[in-house]
Amino acid sequence: MSLPIAIGAAVFGGAASAFLPRVAHRLAVPSGARPRSACADCNAAFPQGPDGWVRAGPSCDSQTVPRRHRLAAGPGSHRLGVGPGSHRLGVGQRWRRLGVGQRSHRPAVGPGSRRPACRRTPWRTVTAGAAAAGLLGAAVGASPLLPVLLVAVVLGVLLAAVDLRCLRLPNPLVATLALVTAAPLSVLAGPGQLARAVIAAGLSFFAYAMIAIWPRGGLGFGDVKLAAVLGFVLGFLGWPAWLLGLALAHLINGPIALFLLAKGEVGRRSPLPLGPALLAGALLGVAFG
Ligand SMILES: [Zn+2]
Repeated sequence: MSLPIAIGAAVFGGAASAFLPRVAHRLAVPSGARPRSACADCNAAFPQGPDGWVRAGPSCDSQTVPRRHRLAAGPGSHRLGVGPGSHRLGVGQRWRRLGVGQRSHRPAVGPGSRRPACRRTPWRTVTAGAAAAGLLGAAVGASPLLPVLLVAVVLGVLLAAVDLRCLRLPNPLVATLALVTAAPLSVLAGPGQLARAVIAAGLSFFAYAMIAIWPRGGLGFGDVKLAAVLGFVLGFLGWPAWLLGLALAHLINGPIALFLLAKGEVGRRSPLPLGPALLAGALLGVAFG
């Protein structure tokens, strides 16, 4: 293990992840909806142009003047992302407290109002990115694999943030992750390595697709596609990494779901995001597999 590489990777992961809250916030919309043009927490409009998408810091600018001061949960509001058939319904209190699908019911400005969630420093995103990238830097060291994995970490943190907000893994993000991993890994692959990666991706896809089509499988096709992409990366590294990554995803997800169920904060059929656990499992599979 090389400490300078691990530290450098952690700094990169943390710094790059500081740019994610705004883009995650804008992309966390119900299926088929356009990306948000205004903040769902405080109603402030996002700036036009690239600045409105990628900027380090909270999802909202502290200088932004909210367009309206009306409460976030007014009748007919579609900023909530909850409509007929929404997957959001039924998610328990705990997830709301964690910020899953959270919307502020307070006016964003005015006397006595507290700073809305969208204007807080994104420590969680930065910590996740720095920890994941640092772990990979320590595990992989100076290797052509490392830059590929670091880019994947940043996209992974973004996917997890979006999934926690809206229980979705948008196709364009999963496709981008597939492209930025599969293309360079195909070039780097030794004999047999590419075939193993493709087979691992296919097996992951098939296994998760079986669960997804099972009635009450509680799995979306976003999870299936993400599992295939992660299966490719893990399969590239070897079967032990693939197996460990898959198993750990469920060892991480299972106890969290049981804990929330035991506390009565989610129902037996409440949908929970699986993306973050899949990504965390894959990360550990790459690092320790
Ligand atoms: Zn806001």
